[in-house]
Amino acid sequence: MAQKKFTLTEADIPEKWYNIVADMPNKPLPPLHPGTKEPIGPEMLAPLFPMELIKQEVTSEKWVDIPEEVRDIYKIWRPTPMFRAYGLEKLLDTPAKIYYKYEGVSPAGSHKPNTAVPQAFYNKQAGVKRITTETGAGQWGSALSFACQLFGIECEVYMVKASYDSKPYRKIMMNTWGASVYPSPSNRTEAGKKILAGDPDSPGSLGIAISEAVELAFQDENTKYALGSVLNHVLMHQTVIGLEAIKQLEQAGDFPDIIVAPFGGGSNFAGIAFPFLRFNLDEGKKIRCIAAEPASCPKLTRGVFRYDLGDTVGMTPLLPMYTLGHNFIPAPIHAGGLRYHGAGAIVSQLLKDGLIEAQALKQLECFEAGIKFARTEGIIPAPEATHAIATAIREAERAKEEGVSKTILFNLCGHGHFDMGAYEQYLSGKLVEHEVTQEEILASLAELDTPVIA
Ligand SMILES: *Cc1c(COP(=O)(O)O)cnc(C)c1O
Repeated sequence: MAQKKFTLTEADIPEKWYNIVADMPNKPLPPLHPGTKEPIGPEMLAPLFPMELIKQEVTSEKWVDIPEEVRDIYKIWRPTPMFRAYGLEKLLDTPAKIYYKYEGVSPAGSHKPNTAVPQAFYNKQAGVKRITTETGAGQWGSALSFACQLFGIECEVYMVKASYDSKPYRKIMMNTWGASVYPSPSNRTEAGKKILAGDPDSPGSLGIAISEAVELAFQDENTKYALGSVLNHVLMHQTVIGLEAIKQLEQAGDFPDIIVAPFGGGSNFAGIAFPFLRFNLDEGKKIRCIAAEPASCPKLTRGVFRYDLGDTVGMTPLLPMYTLGHNFIPAPIHAGGLRYHGAGAIVSQLLKDGLIEAQALKQLECFEAGIKFARTEGIIPAPEATHAIATAIREAERAKEEGVSKTILFNLCGHGHFDMGAYEQYLSGKLVEHEVTQEEILASLAELDTPVIA
């Protein structure tokens, strides 16, 4: 019988993270101070992050050691399995071979603990007592709550108010791991009070929640801040996904033509794609790496490449990114993890240089793909992950039309067990399509006064 599941042993958990910056033909541009617009040094980040993480943020060393303590915790769920999607292939009647790496087996149910654990570890090592963060749908907040609990660090999560009200079980998950969770905007920070003064019923946004969490870290030397995507060190931590997948595809006797991952800020995409992109950059291979983003928040396919803020109030450095503008408020689609206005500096530079691709997908096509996947492969995917499934299906159908066999690997970055409300809407025909208009994008970009990149 053909092999379906490709597993590794604890000894196969990578010993080093891969840092793609070492291999990039054009390095990412430096972050700028939001006031002076001059490049910032590590000292500006020191109130927010422990020095080890700042070093990882700026290093161009190709391989960075994973601490033994971190590998020990990774053993709870790593190595994650890779599967061949025979059921889906059969349904599509495609000559393409489809594989998926499943990150939903982590305690929090997504890839996010891959970076939450090392971030908590380096904070603990630096003597930090409390970490603040933001969360949208709750995936990052739960991953960080879990990681902080293991290292005995207090965790304070600012959860976008709309999600706080609509996703009570994600909040309780965070409480179970010992974190305090506040709806954002809150009256615990100046940033939150300012927003509430303007709109007492504000539903909040990721940008606002980041402003609140960052403000608290600036105020107290024992408190630091943690981000679940976008930054260079976060993307690097996620490369354990692709490094394991390389070994698993070797086991399968295969090599990918196409890699696909959903795209919010870029961390799970980087995690699966960068170790394979190394074959393109180092050895001249031609693997296509496709980022799958929602049509309602299409920064990669319809945004501009320029400096922009990571938050709403202007407390974070300016980063070079594909962006829709930091005031852009995406429609309330169910893939909450993909509702971010910008993208990381590394992925943005790679896209600019034509080394990766992006596709935008609407919500109905994604849920349809998610249902096909659940009914053939069994696993119910997170709404974010359905963007990768739909893209893999597009590519498999194209392979069929062209009569060629392609090997496709996609990242199944999380399960959808907390998203039954979204599936209920889809199944009862109530899910609505969202695509942002050109007017909306231009209006948001017109508000930007951040530096343009020549
Ligand atoms: C957070 C999240 C994403 C989006 O974030 P990236 O940094 O782009 O990976 C996608 N899927 C899931 C399940 C998430 O939790």
